[in-house]
Amino acid sequence: MQIEVVTLFPEMVRGALAYGVLGRAIERGLARIGTEDVRAHTFDVHRTVDDRPYGGGPGMVLKPEPLLAAIRAAAARLPPGSPRVCLSAQGEVFDQRTARELAGLPGLLLVAGRYEGIDERAIELGVDRELSIGDYVLSGGEIAALAVIDALVRLLPGALGDDRSSIEESFSEGLLEWPHYTRPEVFEGRHVPQALLSGNHAAVRRWRLEQSVARTWSRRPDLIARHGLAPEASRLLNEYLAARAGGGLGEGESHEQDRPGNREEPHDPRGPGFQTG
Ligand code: SAM
Repeated sequence: MQIEVVTLFPEMVRGALAYGVLGRAIERGLARIGTEDVRAHTFDVHRTVDDRPYGGGPGMVLKPEPLLAAIRAAAARLPPGSPRVCLSAQGEVFDQRTARELAGLPGLLLVAGRYEGIDERAIELGVDRELSIGDYVLSGGEIAALAVIDALVRLLPGALGDDRSSIEESFSEGLLEWPHYTRPEVFEGRHVPQALLSGNHAAVRRWRLEQSVARTWSRRPDLIARHGLAPEASRLLNEYLAARAGGGLGEGESHEQDRPGNREEPHDPRGPGFQTG
């Protein structure tokens, strides 16, 4: 996959590409990431990329001419038809589904904004889609572009040591992932849950699914409301809720309860009467 990032700070983008899964994927040729410097498309002595907003108000606006020229130069290096995506706090929220969708493409162009924003005409003429990485405002689109790149590249076949990792992890089935443990078996008095030590694959699978469902229910009930639950997951959630009501928590659940911020009763997104089974 080839990705081009249009930015005022190409070094900032390039500097983050050398590490971990992303760095290895680039090294192995699974992904190629290029950058296009907006300032390279200015022709005045000050290399001006911004100007005051029409109508007044604080801050500056990214000028349309150099930005559109940079977008067109970067697009020319990509396979024809590659989507041109602008990172924007006003875009549709980027999620794992969008990551999977974009990771299947041969090419992608990302535009990182700066200042108060981008002249709207450059967006109309040079961008197909706007994506936000969450409901907060960053000072520039580079970190957002890097978040998108990271999420995409790790989905490319061969990017992870074991491709099952990206199938099993959080959000893949509309559930958060289960808790993980490694050695030592006992750490500061806390034991690894017995099911994980049993060597019984069916028991491990069941424990993990139960933990996934319970964790999603307590931390992100909106995911369950949105995606629903498969029959087995639904049954495990009912069993877990029944055990909770009876005071007998499932293994691993004590850890969940101990975390600050996870002590509240889960909010039922569908209100009273929500049937999980
Ligand atoms: N005035 C703009 C607004 O209220 O929507 C915010 C501009 S922000 C300071 C500058 C740039 O950061 C944006 O053009 C965009 O590229 C990027 N940015 C900020 N927040 C973002 C977010 N949540 N997701 C993606 N990009 C974001």
